[in-house]
Amino acid sequence: MNDLQDRIADLKQALLAAKELSLTKLAARIQELGFRCQKCGECCQGEDNSVVVFPEEIRRIRTATGLLWLEVAGPPEEGEWDKDGCFHTLEWRLVKKGAFKGASCRFYQNGRCTIYSCRPILCRTYPFYLDNGELMHSECRGLGCKIESEEADELAEQLLKRHLLEIQEAILLLERYRDFERGEAKEGGECIVHDSEGEHRISQGKLVG
Ligand code: SF4
Repeated sequence: MNDLQDRIADLKQALLAAKELSLTKLAARIQELGFRCQKCGECCQGEDNSVVVFPEEIRRIRTATGLLWLEVAGPPEEGEWDKDGCFHTLEWRLVKKGAFKGASCRFYQNGRCTIYSCRPILCRTYPFYLDNGELMHSECRGLGCKIESEEADELAEQLLKRHLLEIQEAILLLERYRDFERGEAKEGGECIVHDSEGEHRISQGKLVG
């Protein structure tokens, strides 16, 4: 429990530090690195495609598409079993087109994103992310291409918004997290997803709580 409280305290510090980040400096750094989306779709497919999506984002996508929660997002594969055979995991991922390795995002159709206007903030800011306030990036063929200053400003704004959101979601998740006694894997057991809203329970492929 103390460990949990320590992590929450650290995250609150990180949130304060994130609020002090300079958008101007961030935008200048993005411009220095350069970026232009090549519309190659590589970030939407392949083994590395794993998009963390937060509850409010899932609701926005549901409103735009009419899909059920579990048709938009599902639990990640990593997690732990409790003594009753329930599988516990953290946060949601966008659903893919299949369970096989390398399956693409279900919203990537005919070379385009079908939920572009309400895509998650992680997609909006790819390939960049902030780590302890430092600008980092994933592999992307669009890096190094010229970016206009207005676009760099917009990207910096989105990136900071994402950084704050990620920290806030993590704080809420930990504040609402109820620990459990570890146990063995059980075939057909329920899945419990912990997120910023608490626990969501999936039983027999349906969201039941
Ligand atoms: S939501 Fe859109 S941008 Fe994000 S991974 Fe899926 S297809 Fe790509």
